[in-house]
Amino acid sequence: MSSNRYRGRFAPSPTGPLHLGSLLAAFGSWLLARHAGGHWLVRIEDLDPPREVAGAAAAQLATLAAFGLHPDAPVQYQSRRHAHYRAALDRLLAEGSAFPCHCSRSDLAGQQGLHRRCVGGRQRPHPAIRLRVADGALVGFDDALQGRFEHRVDRVAGDVVLLRADGCWAYQLAVVVDDAAQGITDVVRGADLIDSTPRQILLQRALGLPTPRYLHLPLLRDADGNKLSKSLAARPVDARDPVPTLRWLWSALGQEAAALDGPAQVPELLQQAVSAFHPARLRRTLPDTAVSRDAGRFT
Ligand code: GLU
Repeated sequence: MSSNRYRGRFAPSPTGPLHLGSLLAAFGSWLLARHAGGHWLVRIEDLDPPREVAGAAAAQLATLAAFGLHPDAPVQYQSRRHAHYRAALDRLLAEGSAFPCHCSRSDLAGQQGLHRRCVGGRQRPHPAIRLRVADGALVGFDDALQGRFEHRVDRVAGDVVLLRADGCWAYQLAVVVDDAAQGITDVVRGADLIDSTPRQILLQRALGLPTPRYLHLPLLRDADGNKLSKSLAARPVDARDPVPTLRWLWSALGQEAAALDGPAQVPELLQQAVSAFHPARLRRTLPDTAVSRDAGRFT
């Protein structure tokens, strides 16, 4: 395997069953990886026990399998990788790029929740650890679908939490460590995470890690314009009958519906999808009416 071969991934948090929006990211990242002749991996982001739902990871993996989206390597679980996050954090602390912070949420309320300097009076037994973000930290990247995206991380995010005061690793640290450890060359995910990308790039730079390419897929919205994952339409997908949903997702990804007319079984349909897929047809946004109220029809 050449070291620059395409490696994509899907990285769900096990907070519930997969819905249409998460499956769109899974199918989109799978198609792009297959189209590039690359590998596609799955990582379960189970680092937030308070938000985790028992059995959700297994259910998500069963749904992916029912949809024929099989990863090319064993599934990785973030809950088994604490030592790697610890090593990255220790490095940042030793270099002075990260610092312990005793500020509480209410301490920061006066500055829109943004941390730029410690204002907390009370010392906590277990402080959070934050990445020091320099004033004027403008970070940008060229998204393969959304185009140029940049912002001032100091103004949008402030000093980024790496280890939370409750002892949980922050998503931003774990995702950067794991994308690098898994050799991910291409991150394809929902546009709700595009705001996190400059933070992740800053962290990659601080840790001396490569920056992958990024492509943020449009979010599904229901007829009221709500993000699907926040709306009533965010019901689990039906893993017993994947073909209609795969066709629906295919259209939502801007692909020509007729290209999948023939096959009635998942493996043949996916094979056909890989040969008919055109990344240039992906859409930057989806119309608000793209998901009908029953979440069953792409219009
Ligand atoms: N685990 C995150 C989520 O489910 C996605 C992480 C990512 O794709 O970078 O929202």
